[in-house]
Amino acid sequence: MAPLSILIVGCGCAGPVLASFLLLAPDTRPEDLPHITIVERAGAHRAAGQNIDIRGTGATLIRKLGVEQKIRAATTGEEGMQIVDDQNQVWVSAPADKTGRVQTATSDIEILRGTLVDILTKRSEQISDGVKARGGRGIDYVNGDYVEELDQDGAKVHVRFAKSGERRSYDVVVGADGLQSRTRRQAFGDEGDAQRLKYLSTIAAFYSMPAAATDSLWRRWWHGENRRSITVRPSGQEGRSTVVLLLVHPDERATAVAKLGPKGAPQQKALLKKYFDHGEWECDRVMREMEAADDFYYDLVAQVKMEKWHKGRVVLLGDAGCCAAPISGMGTTLALNGAYNLAGALTHHPDDPNAAFDAFETAMRPLVDVAQKLPPGNPELFHWKTSWGIWIMRWAFRAIFSSGIGTLAEKFMGPPADVVGVKEYGFRQPEEMQVDV
Ligand SMILES: Cc1cc2nc3c(=O)[nH]c(=O)nc-3n(C[C@H](O)[C@H](O)[C@H](O)COP(=O)(O)OP(=O)(O)OC[C@H]3O[C@@H](n4cnc5c(N)ncnc54)[C@H](O)[C@@H]3O)c2cc1C
Repeated sequence: MAPLSILIVGCGCAGPVLASFLLLAPDTRPEDLPHITIVERAGAHRAAGQNIDIRGTGATLIRKLGVEQKIRAATTGEEGMQIVDDQNQVWVSAPADKTGRVQTATSDIEILRGTLVDILTKRSEQISDGVKARGGRGIDYVNGDYVEELDQDGAKVHVRFAKSGERRSYDVVVGADGLQSRTRRQAFGDEGDAQRLKYLSTIAAFYSMPAAATDSLWRRWWHGENRRSITVRPSGQEGRSTVVLLLVHPDERATAVAKLGPKGAPQQKALLKKYFDHGEWECDRVMREMEAADDFYYDLVAQVKMEKWHKGRVVLLGDAGCCAAPISGMGTTLALNGAYNLAGALTHHPDDPNAAFDAFETAMRPLVDVAQKLPPGNPELFHWKTSWGIWIMRWAFRAIFSSGIGTLAEKFMGPPADVVGVKEYGFRQPEEMQVDV
C-alpha cells in the first residue's frame, strides 16, 4: 500500500500541528509515512498577529509536540484583565490563574498568533527534516499560493493551484484555512455557507501599536455607549501593545465591509472611526494608531456549525469546520485538539480515509459541542447601549469580583478546556525544542 498523499490547506495553528503528528506515527518506517504538502496563501512572512490563548488539553498537546517550553518562553506575560472607565480608573481586576488550573479570562499561556504559528511551523520543519534524513519524504511547503479548483472522484482529490497553475492529485485534502475557509465552500458548496457560518452579531478588529505610559502587563478593557469596547493588551514585544475593537449588534455596514476581506482594510478602518473617534478614554490614540497599523485584521465574530466535517476525501480542521469564535477562548485549543485527533485517526486507518474521518468526528464532537456553548450573555452582558447600562455593568462586576463570587464563577463557567480528555495514539515524543537564551 503506497503512503497516503495529503494536502493541508493553511499553515496557521492547526495545519503544521497535523503535519507534525502525522510524521510522528508510531512503528512506521520513514518511507511509509504520509507524503504531505502544506499550501499557505499568506506567504512565508506573516504579521505577528494578536493575542490568542492555549488552555487545558491544548497545553497537554504542545507538551506532546515538544514545544511547551518554547511557547511558554514566548508568552505576552499578561497579568489579568481590568475593566476601566473614561478616566482610566480601574473598576474590576481579574488576575490570571498562572497555574493553568482555573480558566480565567487571561490564560496562563497568552501568545501572539504569529509567534505561535512560527513556532508550530518551525517544529513541523524540524520533524520533516528528521524524516527526510531517515529516507522519508517529509513535508513540501508551498507559500504564497492557494487552491483555485478542487474536484474529487471518490479515490482522489484533484486540485489546481492558483498562482503556479500546477495541477496535482491527493488521497486526502484537509481544509485548515480558517473561519472564511475556501476549502469548505469548494467541497461543501457555496450556497449553504451562510447557514454554516453563524454570525454572532459582533465585529472584531485587531492590530498592534506603540505602547504608551498607561499600558502595562494588565489587559485594559474600556466600554462605550452603543455597545462598543476597546481592549489594550501587552504583546510581549518591546514597546508594543495590541488592540481589540469590538462592535456588538453593529449596523449592516459593518458586515458589508467585512465581506471585502483584507483588501477592504481602508473601508473597515473608516467605518471603525465613525464608531470610535469621539474623543473618549484613549480613543484618539487608538484611532490614530489604527490608521498607521499594517497588521490590521477585521472579521465577523462567528461560529462554524456543521453536522459533518468531511465530504468524500476532503475534511475540515480547526476554525474552518468548527470555529467557536474568539470570544469563546477556545479557538486555538480546539485547533490543536482537532489536528491531534485527525492525525491519530489517519494513522490508525491509513487505508480507509472515510473510517478515519468518522473516528476523527467521534473524537472531536463532544469537545466542539461544549466549546461552542458560549456563557450566557456573552458578549451582550458587557456591551450596553446607554451610559447607564455601562455604569450598572461596572458596579455589578465590581461587586461580583470583590466578593470572590467572580473567581468562583470562573471555576465553573470559564472556557471548557479540560472537559474532554486527550486520547492516546502512541505518537513518538520529539525532543523539546530549544529555547533561545
Ligand atoms: C491574520 C489572523 C489574525 C487572527 N487574530 C486572532 C486574534 O487576534 N485573536 C483570536 O482569538 N483569533 C485570531 N485569529 C484566529 C485564530 O488564529 C484561530 O481561531 C485559531 O488559532 C484556529 O486556528 P486555525 O489553524 O483553524 O486557523 P488560523 O490560525 O486562522 O489559520 C488558517 C490559515 O489558513 C490560511 N489560509 C486562509 N485561506 C487560505 C487559502 N485559501 N489557501 C491557503 N491558505 C489559506 C491563513 O492565512 C492562515 O494562516 C486570527 C486568524 C488570522 C488568520
